[in-house]
Amino acid sequence: MSLPAPPLAPPRTRPRLLLWGMLVALLGVAQSALVVLTLRYEQARALDRTEDVATAAQGEIRRRTQLVLQGVQGLQAPAGDALAWRRHADELLRSQREIGRLERRDARLRIVEAAETPFLEPLFSRLPRAEMEVETEVACSSARRLMSPSFSRSQFVPLPGGLGIEAVDVCAPLQEAGELVGFTVATLLLPQLLDEVLGAEIGRSHELSFVEGDGTRLARGGAVRGAGVFVAERLVDLPGAPLQLRVDAMERAPSLIPNLATALVLGLSLALSAVVVLLVRDGRRRHAAEEALAESLAFRRAMEDSLLTGLRARDRQGRIVYVNPAFCKMVGYSADELQQAALPPYWPPERVGEYQRRQAERLAAATGAGMPHEGYETVFMRRDGERFPVMIYEAPLVTGTGKQTGWMSAVLDLSAQRRVEELSRQQQERLQATARLASVGEMASLLSHELNQPLSAIASYATGSLNLMDAPPLGGEPDPELLPSLRHALQRITEQAERAGRVIKSVHDFVRRRHQAHEVIAADLLIESVLPLVRLQARKVGVRVEVDVAQPVPRVKVDRTMVEQVLLNLARNGIQAMDGPTPLADRVLTLRAQWVPAAQGRGVRFSVIDTGPGIPADVAQRLFTPFVTTKPEGMGLGLSLCRTVIEQHGGTMDFETLPARPGTPADQPGGTAFHVTLPPLTPPPAPPPGLPAVEPAVEPAAPGLPVR
Ligand code: ADP
Repeated sequence: MSLPAPPLAPPRTRPRLLLWGMLVALLGVAQSALVVLTLRYEQARALDRTEDVATAAQGEIRRRTQLVLQGVQGLQAPAGDALAWRRHADELLRSQREIGRLERRDARLRIVEAAETPFLEPLFSRLPRAEMEVETEVACSSARRLMSPSFSRSQFVPLPGGLGIEAVDVCAPLQEAGELVGFTVATLLLPQLLDEVLGAEIGRSHELSFVEGDGTRLARGGAVRGAGVFVAERLVDLPGAPLQLRVDAMERAPSLIPNLATALVLGLSLALSAVVVLLVRDGRRRHAAEEALAESLAFRRAMEDSLLTGLRARDRQGRIVYVNPAFCKMVGYSADELQQAALPPYWPPERVGEYQRRQAERLAAATGAGMPHEGYETVFMRRDGERFPVMIYEAPLVTGTGKQTGWMSAVLDLSAQRRVEELSRQQQERLQATARLASVGEMASLLSHELNQPLSAIASYATGSLNLMDAPPLGGEPDPELLPSLRHALQRITEQAERAGRVIKSVHDFVRRRHQAHEVIAADLLIESVLPLVRLQARKVGVRVEVDVAQPVPRVKVDRTMVEQVLLNLARNGIQAMDGPTPLADRVLTLRAQWVPAAQGRGVRFSVIDTGPGIPADVAQRLFTPFVTTKPEGMGLGLSLCRTVIEQHGGTMDFETLPARPGTPADQPGGTAFHVTLPPLTPPPAPPPGLPAVEPAVEPAAPGLPVR
């Protein structure tokens, strides 16, 4: 067996469920991790952006304060040229908006000149400048000491309307010929500085502010408020007054849904979950299909195993790929032995060459076109060497895609059937022999009667001859007529002996003729062969025999002996039927051979017609059943055997009751006609035959048995 064994064990559901559970849990964990990582990534990116902004802003503040310093140091106009200083200062104030006020002071820090930014209210309009000098003085004393610009700590400068602004002062020493002659003080407005630093793009997304060490905000810039989530701080190291810069992104912590990446991940997770659900459903369906398949495979296997017909599958190279148990049992080899053998071990050695040729021819045909659908008969060999006949039906093995992979054969062991056929043939032969012997037995009495005549003639001629020889010669002279008389008597004796011999031979021939070969024979010859024996019986009961053969004479291909036996049986039945009830004058038996017209099915019809009383209805129903007889000494086998013989020839046999003869009561049948129709050898001639032949159409075969 090479078919894969079907998975018959029930599926293990618990481990399967466990596996599915683990898969779902893993998927959940993976998805959650993915979401968390995505959020983290988003946060890191936002923080990075903020840090970048902070670094850029730090640089920009440094650059701008540097510009301020350069501007302030550029205001070194000679003392007393107030106009020039003011022009310069106004220019500087217009070009750098973060500068709120410029002052020129003398060496004792007294204000000599002051200029206000044109973009704001004058800075010290609410609180006099003198009240906010402390930090400025600290810065200037540091500038004096270091002889370089110095920044003051930031301070809040109140403005009119309740507002105020955070500012730092830059104090730059003024020197002339190496001597300190005064200071230039610039008030740097921190919010304006931040606004200048903030570009349009950063201003839309980040809030910049200066804070103190404790987190107190000094000044802020930008139109938006930071969310306080992504914050970066940088130290802006202004000489004398370090400032803490804080960049606060307005972006909030990434939330789950509005985030695109997260939405994508979530969407994918949902899709994944849907796929898992579909997979589960698909798995269930597959499982159900597998079960159904396993069931049908098991059913098929049981069916194949219980089959009595051998099944054999061969591939395109002729190798056996599958055999069922019935085949193994038939040939006596196991499936493995058959599949591994190079040559099928069930091929009889003397036929291997022939079978190989046949197989090669068959395999050469790509499709089943050359395959005999009705099957073919061949001989296989069992393991013990016994040869046995098999019938093989072969069909191409075609896959679902239409590709032929080999051949499938159904193999029937014919040995049992052959035994039955042989038995039935022997029985048939025995029955026929019995029936023939029965006929012969009947004929024995007729023979004795027939032989009596020639024998008594022989006896009387012999006695006469002896008498002639014993008679004393007349006058001592031998009678000159003696020899001719003796010759005549001996001739008669010879004739009569030959006649008797012929009678005996005709019976002997009939009984002994056994060969069963079919031969082509003319209908008149068939009738002629049985005529002597028919006449023998007919004569005994005073029946006249008539023969009627169509012209041209039809011919048939039959087993002559068998069909003669049929005709003889029918004739005997007819004669026996007329013996008694039919008046002597009416006793006629007609043997007829005719063409059957095409309209009635074509053929050659032999009829045996008697003028007897017909067949009673109850007998007619069972007429062809064996052992049905109305005769005390009858066996009831004649008609059933006759029909078997005729059917074996492909013919039919029936009978009809003939209408009453003139001068007899209308309800009394005029006789019986038995018809035997045989297939024609040649088509009937035109015009349709049926011309009655005048008796005797056929010469008697045995001249010693004249028609009565
Ligand atoms: P058997 O002659 O030994 O009885 P058959 O099978 O030849 O066996 O015939 C069966 C029966 O059919 C006969 O016993 C007889 O009753 C009936 N039968 C056969 N032929 C005729 C016939 N020509 N006319 C009347 N009856 C017949």
